Amino acid sequence: MSSNSLETISCDYRTPFSHIYIEEEALQYPATARILEYFKNRDTVQIPIRQYQEVFHRKHQSFAAQKHSPSLILAVKHGNLIYPGAKVCQSFGNAHFYYTSFVMNCPFDCEYCYLQGMYSSAHIVIFVNLEDFFTETKKLLVQHPVYLCISYDTDLLALEPMTGFLTEYLAFAAELPELTTELRTKSACRLSRPDGFSAEAAKRFILAYTLSPDYVATNYEHRTAPLAARLKAAIAAHQNGFPIRLCFDPMLRFPGYEAVYTEFFTQVREALRDIPILDASVGVFRISDTYLKQMRKHRPDSAVLAYPFETVQQVCHYGSRSADMIQLAINCLADWIPEEKIFTIED
Ligand code: SF4
Repeated sequence: MSSNSLETISCDYRTPFSHIYIEEEALQYPATARILEYFKNRDTVQIPIRQYQEVFHRKHQSFAAQKHSPSLILAVKHGNLIYPGAKVCQSFGNAHFYYTSFVMNCPFDCEYCYLQGMYSSAHIVIFVNLEDFFTETKKLLVQHPVYLCISYDTDLLALEPMTGFLTEYLAFAAELPELTTELRTKSACRLSRPDGFSAEAAKRFILAYTLSPDYVATNYEHRTAPLAARLKAAIAAHQNGFPIRLCFDPMLRFPGYEAVYTEFFTQVREALRDIPILDASVGVFRISDTYLKQMRKHRPDSAVLAYPFETVQQVCHYGSRSADMIQLAINCLADWIPEEKIFTIED
């Protein structure tokens, strides 16, 4: 075990930020000092601000332009810090399903990412008051066990060299047997157990790898790790004692998708056949119609977003074609992952 929970040598997904906006209130937090230290020898301009909203919610911003060169915003989050899991997200059978976001926006740039529809800015906001998130989590734990997803609206693992948040989170979660955490990632960064984080505690920290065919990763998941690197990272995470979840979600529909996905599932299975898989989720692309409208504006030439989706109750999806896609995945996984461990979201 190492005292630093990330083997940074295997992680190369850092975005160079030319500007860092810092809320006055954020200055007093150790995470702010740590992040600024990370940028010490870089050519980065620091700008004090009163509240992150004055930059993040500015009018007439271009999400697409900012995505090429995002700024960083260090802020303090007030109000709700933890939310009940959304219906469109998979609970994996957990009764008390919540999610939280220490960070808004992501260093990666997936063409189908819902964040493009959700936010008007692509700047990355890091909330430095982690302790307040921990306090809220503990309040929930007084009531019942908690299943908490911490990396939906970003990729915390990819940002770890800059934030150190996972190191802090693992220290917090180490002594909380009623807390189960899911960390979702498309990075190839490798997380190891910090000192004092027992094998028992590691069993409650699920590393969920979103896996896609290389065709999809290359064409639609810009800046993410290639498939082979994600698979190697998953094996390393298993060796470090973390349960491994595989997320085949969202599957995308494009000409020849059947052959691409069939070969992909074979590749994944060959690579991971010797490690236990906790469970898997399978889902097809789906998005709210208002988000899709925004996303198409940002990416007028995206083939993924141009698809003639069906819209039912304000949700756009592949309609009856979704079932074939899900079935393809289930067939390919059938004699590897038991059916009861495969969770599906169709639309
Ligand atoms: S990894 Fe997830 S959060 Fe990040 S850009 Fe891709 S879809 Fe969005």
